[in-house]
Amino acid sequence: MFADLHLHTNFSDGTYTPEELVGRAQQLGFSAIALTDHDTVEGCERAGAASEKAGIEFIPATELTAELNGNELHLLGYFIDTGNRKLLAEMAKFQKVRQNRIREMVARLNQLNVPLKADTIFAIANCRSPGRPHVGRALVQGGFCDSLDEAFERFLKKNRPAWVPKFKISALDAIELIHQAGGLAVMAHPGLNRTDQIIPELVGAGLDGLECFHTKHTASTSEHYTRMAKDYHLAITGGSDCHGLSKGKPLIGTIRLPYEDVEQLKARLGERHSGKSKAGAVTIPHSTLRLPH
Ligand SMILES: [Zn+2]
Ligand SMILES: [Zn+2]
Repeated sequence: MFADLHLHTNFSDGTYTPEELVGRAQQLGFSAIALTDHDTVEGCERAGAASEKAGIEFIPATELTAELNGNELHLLGYFIDTGNRKLLAEMAKFQKVRQNRIREMVARLNQLNVPLKADTIFAIANCRSPGRPHVGRALVQGGFCDSLDEAFERFLKKNRPAWVPKFKISALDAIELIHQAGGLAVMAHPGLNRTDQIIPELVGAGLDGLECFHTKHTASTSEHYTRMAKDYHLAITGGSDCHGLSKGKPLIGTIRLPYEDVEQLKARLGERHSGKSKAGAVTIPHSTLRLPH
């Protein structure tokens, strides 16, 4: 039995509908999946219903973009109450910020003589959490770029001419937001951020886990974070970060997290809900404060 705890649908920047995603998970034999769309939980209801029909355990979740001491990181919130008012109110704010960011990117593109309209991108995105991949798709569809890669290289990547900095919630506030919605906070793909030095502070703020297994982690990176998770008494999670056909080949199936790790995650959730969480009481092993490689 295995799971994929990092998946996106067309409710953010993935291309699969929730039903298509669950269909793929079923074909691949997954026992459990989590939907982690950026700044939204809108796809969870449909993904949950489709999973139930398919006999797959479904974990409602989201992925928040956060920062700590100038470092960007992504936080996954698992088992959140998707009706939690505070969470929904905060997400509505993040979605507004995303929409404004799209308008700013369009203004920059227009200055570069790329006559793209914000409405075209919103129509392509057709969701409340539009992001750069949607701008990229619009650039390709409009014939301004040949591929999504080219769109990012020429315009959208950090410090490229149409790039606009993104507002990020403080990681400490994000962890609290996830906890007050009844969820567990997990640091996504730590190997991509290479900001191990902030992990102790996150642990102190109640971080629950590390995404040790991710499509872009090498074997040694996964090993490094698995060791770190054990040292800090954190849960071990993993997922493909599949965005459907958005970036070429769908990634679902590349990560098969043993189901025991899902059980560990659920045990931690039980501890948190019963107030027996060890969070904050962990001594920090400085020997683990090394970057992989
Ligand atoms: Zn991410
Ligand atoms: Zn993701």
